[in-house]
Amino acid sequence: MELLRPDSTEAAAAALGNGSVALAGGTELVPLLRDGLVRADTLVEVRDVVPRGVEGTRIGAATTLAELEVDAEIPQTLREACSLAASPQLRAMSTLGGNLLQATRCWYWRLGFECYLHGGDLCHARQGQHREHAIFGNQRCASAHPSDPAAALLALGARLRTTERELSISDLYRLPTDNDRNVTALQPGELILEVDAPRPEASVYLKAMDRRKWSFALVGVAAARFADGVRLALAGVAPIPWELSSPDALEEATPLPGTAYKVDIARALVRRALEAVGAGPSRD
Ligand SMILES: Cc1cc2nc3c(=O)[nH]c(=O)nc-3n(C[C@H](O)[C@H](O)[C@H](O)COP(=O)(O)OP(=O)(O)OC[C@H]3O[C@@H](n4cnc5c(N)ncnc54)[C@H](O)[C@@H]3O)c2cc1C
Ligand code: SF4
Repeated sequence: MELLRPDSTEAAAAALGNGSVALAGGTELVPLLRDGLVRADTLVEVRDVVPRGVEGTRIGAATTLAELEVDAEIPQTLREACSLAASPQLRAMSTLGGNLLQATRCWYWRLGFECYLHGGDLCHARQGQHREHAIFGNQRCASAHPSDPAAALLALGARLRTTERELSISDLYRLPTDNDRNVTALQPGELILEVDAPRPEASVYLKAMDRRKWSFALVGVAAARFADGVRLALAGVAPIPWELSSPDALEEATPLPGTAYKVDIARALVRRALEAVGAGPSRD
């Protein structure tokens, strides 16, 4: 395998595609390569050419989760989402861009079963083990999106700048369809360069996990209060980060037998998150 170290984003983008894959921190890509879930003959290291650091509301996509969790300029929901993700060692390597593009943790997918997301006809989790799986958007693939920062950015209404265009974070993600099993709209060779995360009046990220640390979200809830209202977004509940139009939208969940408990957790965390941002029910 060849490792390229281009000296500009243009050169990096030009080197991608046709068997070449972008490498940032490698915490996701290297295990996927090892397990044969991603095949590549060339890795294009992008960490040195994609922007890194925080300037106003703009965050370079090569900024690590460890850098974000301690930056006072970063909205609290994103700082907390970063600090509750993975382990300190992983956060020191993990970039924000790589985090947004991580693949599902569904073990059927990770073990290479030819399931719907891998291009097959069946979702094995729906009939089999699905305790960690989805309660929304789960009609075809019932996987649960693992990114905590993505939910925080969705609640913030963040926008992305790529080598090709600008798009909102909600437009980055899409549910898989029969014609296209991808869960992001990113084109081959398109690099995420920056994230623009507006500053809310108040925000929070709450995460229910099997352990208190180093565990993926069973349910993560991000809430951000702006002058025109509160935005809510969830991690771990759908194949993509899930925007919740209102707390009542939880009644529209379509849990599987083994994921019904997540609706109760989401209800409790949404209530606590709204209270934390000063938008809970009046106690008069
Ligand atoms: C044990 C473990 C526990 C974890 N727990 C959590 C958790 O609780 N919460 C959570 O949110 N995450 C968790 N993660 C995920 C972790 O945060 C990600 O693996 C990490 O953020 C990925 O970033 P990276 O820089 O290492 O990406 P890489 O592994 O280098 O890349 C990941 C993917 O993104 C692509 N890519 C990278 N940068 C760019 C870019 N700028 N533009 C376009 N494509 C790009 C790569 O080609 C690849 O497909 C966990 C991971 C592990 C291994
Ligand atoms: S949940 Fe998605 S990734 Fe998991 S088996 Fe079903 S189709 Fe595959």
